[in-house]
Amino acid sequence: MTKKMKYGVIVGKRKAEVYQKEVPSIKEDEVLINNKTCNICTTDYQQWAGDRMHQPFPMAFGHENSGIVVEVGKEVKNCQPGDHVVVNIYGPCLECDNCRMGKSSIYCQNSLSNYKMKHPDEDGVYGFYGCGEYQVAKSKHVFKVSKDLPFEEAGFVEPLATVIHGIERLRIKVKEKVLVIGAGTMGLLNAQVARYYGADVIISELIDKKIEAAKKLKFDQIINPEKENFQEKIKEYLGDSQLDAIIVAVGATSAYNQAIKVAPKGCRMLIFAANFPEPDWDLKPNPVHYQLWEIIGTYGCSTQDYLNATVLLSKKYILTAPLLEKKYSLEDIQKAFEKATTPGTYRVTIEI
Ligand SMILES: [Zn+2]
Ligand SMILES: [Zn+2]
Repeated sequence: MTKKMKYGVIVGKRKAEVYQKEVPSIKEDEVLINNKTCNICTTDYQQWAGDRMHQPFPMAFGHENSGIVVEVGKEVKNCQPGDHVVVNIYGPCLECDNCRMGKSSIYCQNSLSNYKMKHPDEDGVYGFYGCGEYQVAKSKHVFKVSKDLPFEEAGFVEPLATVIHGIERLRIKVKEKVLVIGAGTMGLLNAQVARYYGADVIISELIDKKIEAAKKLKFDQIINPEKENFQEKIKEYLGDSQLDAIIVAVGATSAYNQAIKVAPKGCRMLIFAANFPEPDWDLKPNPVHYQLWEIIGTYGCSTQDYLNATVLLSKKYILTAPLLEKKYSLEDIQKAFEKATTPGTYRVTIEI
């Protein structure tokens, strides 16, 4: 008798269900993973909420998952049964020139993620089955994490890898002054990586719960622009120095506009967040020209960023426990999405 597996699926707008199928068999270069947890990413809950209708349904969503290797193909050398692992969702081919040049995986024309967004599998389902009991992955996309790292914390490898990629693009140096706007999941990951790179970090956040999370992560220069004078408070924190970089980690017009209100000459601004429908921004060309501003966009990451993220999490240089909410069982998937879309929520975990 063949073994069955359960997996979470976004069926349509505001509708998630548990589907079943046979546990797939693996090829020689593939790994079978028994997933333990899957965190719900912004891209997942935006699709569930109907804000990403360009993504196909039904979607076997989930990429912030982690689990244990149960079987490896004959050619697999980088992991073995029992290893705790995550999967590189971008699925770069690692053979094209862009991959070989070490570029971000979003430049790979043969990536598995591009393919899977356009081609359903034999069951008519899209996606990677990250929120499934079992998942098949190419060994080249599998990364080991420490067995001491809780599964739900290992689920932060992908978002952390994108943050590392952004911080590298922003070229943060030791002693620089960095303002992070927004203390949501991505804001506090950005703040921690900027600090790890040696920056002195100031955080702007409106919601008390998120200010508390920032304090738990030992950030002490925090501004609530609704309660304090934003510009004055930043000046107070900076003293004689000036801001070197600003990271916008909230996809809201007010956040983008806050950035240009306090950006000094030569400031580098990382536009980490996007949103749907698209927010406005009062950015004009003259200040960019005369103030020598650098506006840097970022999303996605490289294979090296993935590896770095596994190390920073495994060694606890970056902490994610304050960024986790309640856990839900796979059966309660609909409730998990309802919680994930509630404003002010950190990462919601599904236990598989
Ligand atoms: Zn994600
Ligand atoms: Zn490639």
